[in-house]
Amino acid sequence: MITNSKLAYHEHDHQRCIDAAMARAVALCEEKKARLTQARKDVLTLIWQNHQPLGAYRIMDLLSEKNGKRVLPPTVYRALEFLLELGLIHRIASLNAYIGCPFPGSHHNELFLICRQCGSAAECSAEPVSNAIVNAATHANFQLESQSVELMGLCPQCQ
Ligand SMILES: [Zn+2]
Ligand SMILES: [Zn+2]
Ligand SMILES: [Zn+2]
Repeated sequence: MITNSKLAYHEHDHQRCIDAAMARAVALCEEKKARLTQARKDVLTLIWQNHQPLGAYRIMDLLSEKNGKRVLPPTVYRALEFLLELGLIHRIASLNAYIGCPFPGSHHNELFLICRQCGSAAECSAEPVSNAIVNAATHANFQLESQSVELMGLCPQCQ
């Protein structure tokens, strides 16, 4: 199982998370011959400002603040779409918000542990969970296209 729960829930030097995320983004974009424009980079940096999922309107506000002028929704949504497609971020459906992926470029199922108190979310990838989902879908003769599991609860800090 791979997870970033140690970082998401405990005191740490978060600048290292941001630096690592940006380095991974640059490498992945190079590999996929995709262009990491300033707007895309800015949105990714904002999403990585902490381990709490961020909604599109909040991103818009923060970006407008940073740029000193109003950023329009299409700019933000286009950047989000690009980042989602590359797997650099994920959308948390239950919160309608976005979170940076700590292991983009690797094939993994999406399993999120979301703290209802502090709002931090950790991502795990657990093969047995993924296999069980695939089995259930296959059993129902259902053509599975994506899977994302969102678990709500209390993180170690908030218990
Ligand atoms: Zn961090
Ligand atoms: Zn991920
Ligand atoms: Zn918490």
